[in-house]
Amino acid sequence: MTFDMKSDVIVIGGGHAGCEAAGASARTGAKTLLVTHRFETIGVMSCNPAIGGLGKGHLVREIDALDGLMGRVADEGGIQFRLLNRSKGPAVRGPRAQADRKLYRKSMQREIRAQKNLDVVEGEAADLIVENGRCIGIEMADGRRISAAAVVLTTGTFLRGLIHIGDRQIPAGRVGENASIRLAERMDTLKLAMGRLKTGTPPRLDGRTINYDVLEIQHGDEVITPFSFLNQYFNKDQIACHITHTSEKTHQLIKDNINRSPLYSGQIAGTGPRYCPSIEDKVVKFADKASHQIFLEPEGLDDFTVYPNGISTSLPEDVQDAFLRTIPGLENVNVLQSGYAIEYDHVDPRELDSTLECRKLPGLYCAGQINGTTGYEEAGSQGLVAGLNAARKAGGQDAATFSRINSYIGVMIDDLTTRGVTEPYRMFTSRAEYRLSLRADNADQRLTPQGLDWGLVSKTRQDHFNDKDQQLKDAKVQLEQLTLSPTEARKHGLQLNLDGQKRTAFGILSYPDICLKQLSLIWPDIKNISAPIQEQIEIEAKYAVYLERQQASVKAYEAESEALIPDTLKYETISGLSAELRDKLIKSKPRNLAQASRIEGMTPAALGLILLHVKRSPRRASAHA
Ligand code: FAD
Repeated sequence: MTFDMKSDVIVIGGGHAGCEAAGASARTGAKTLLVTHRFETIGVMSCNPAIGGLGKGHLVREIDALDGLMGRVADEGGIQFRLLNRSKGPAVRGPRAQADRKLYRKSMQREIRAQKNLDVVEGEAADLIVENGRCIGIEMADGRRISAAAVVLTTGTFLRGLIHIGDRQIPAGRVGENASIRLAERMDTLKLAMGRLKTGTPPRLDGRTINYDVLEIQHGDEVITPFSFLNQYFNKDQIACHITHTSEKTHQLIKDNINRSPLYSGQIAGTGPRYCPSIEDKVVKFADKASHQIFLEPEGLDDFTVYPNGISTSLPEDVQDAFLRTIPGLENVNVLQSGYAIEYDHVDPRELDSTLECRKLPGLYCAGQINGTTGYEEAGSQGLVAGLNAARKAGGQDAATFSRINSYIGVMIDDLTTRGVTEPYRMFTSRAEYRLSLRADNADQRLTPQGLDWGLVSKTRQDHFNDKDQQLKDAKVQLEQLTLSPTEARKHGLQLNLDGQKRTAFGILSYPDICLKQLSLIWPDIKNISAPIQEQIEIEAKYAVYLERQQASVKAYEAESEALIPDTLKYETISGLSAELRDKLIKSKPRNLAQASRIEGMTPAALGLILLHVKRSPRRASAHA
């Protein structure tokens, strides 16, 4: 077969997964080609103009710790920053920024343009080239053929995408963009388990026709918490958002027209995101609620478009217009673009191993919404994993994997590849069992050293990281050397347990109501520790005792993870397993006992049976075990 071009890695799709995949691959030195419909749509936010949030903010920090793009781009494009859950423990705080769509897109495009080893080809990837059971390249719609050692597929909602507005159906990947039909047909031939999901977006409003006088205002944080570890706390002008609510009239109108919603007329078969329901779903499923909150978020600094967060809908345009006008502040609103729902094909992520490579088609990696997830952050972090591994495969290196112990990325990949999805998957802090140690504030400490080993991290970040790491170590040494007895502490107004034990300043910090500022009144040198390092040290000190307790369960997890299950294990031959469990085990092919234990419906008895058979089987022979 002849080829028009050759690359180490091809990434199909310039969305959130594709940009991180292409960036990660190129950063490791692999010659990388990003194939996407149009350069201009690189970095487009299909839905809400915001990055981060609860759980999602952790993912952005982890991407950033590995020198990915999303954090820096969000800091540049952000126009309102808020640290969510500020009043709760640091483990569940989530940085979030509302972005100027245009600034975000332009900043991402600049990053892609500037990346060494990365070229962009505009056009439609129409086919995968498969030889001897491996994916060895792609064919463009115009007939050009490109070869590569690995291909990363990140086509988002484009595979057989179908938009619904009322009873109107429009084949499209996003509004105004063609769906990928040929590629979807190709996927059918690969015999991968596929599914159909749906998501939706609200109408876009003309902000000049909103009456803000009657609405509650929401400002950003006074001091901005940036996403990127490269950026210190900074300040810039921020915009305000407004809050309104649906009314009983809104709900009545929606109820009266519910049969015209494709969600309720039976027109949409795909399952939607439970945690981000459409307004018609909210009205039907939470019928006892008299109103639902809506955040009115400006889409840009020089753009009067407003994104009404909380009312995604696929009702017909006339119903959308009518229900919007029953909402305080929106009585005279003009709609710039109607809301819509979109159905699309996705790959069952249990078809993938922990590097996101297809088990049935080596050389093909999948990342992002195509794997049944929803959200830019989930897409971006999968992209990074797939791009990194595609590049390592091309370079003949070992797989790079993440675990539930070191990252939210590890949690997500493990959830996806062992449990699959029944609805669009989104990240929550509650998904991470080791969330006390997987905090947004320490993502660099957890992951940057690993990123350096993988060759993912630039010299600038390496220097930055080393400097911060040294400051943290010095500060800890300093605080471990300062000691105080409970009686001495009392003299300074600090209430410690009266057990006669001297405590270090670091130990004293574990008391919930004692902070470094108070300790600096006793030991003025503490003031020389910089503010970000002080904050990090305080968090670490407060969590130290809990982290010690967590250690036992981490050890048990590690032991289960080391109990590898051979590829050759035939679940069909294990008597005593229920048919349902057997089916799930065959589909998800857990690599070890820890993964098997997380399969829905798994019981201790079934785990015992598997362990028995593992002990009798030859060792697992998998490259990625
Ligand atoms: P995308 O960002 O969609 O990028 C796909 C890219 O692939 C595009 O650049 C496209 O041009 C390119 N492409 C596709 N096919 C080809 C091809 N054959 N050849 C070349 N290029 C190709 N997320 C939420 O968190 N909350 C929401 O409420 C929400 N609502 C959404 C509503 C809608 C209508 C849509 C479309 C998405 C919504 N999302 C929502 C999801 C969010 O936009 C995605 O999760 C995220 O963008 C996925 O990133 P991705 O990189 O996988 O795909």
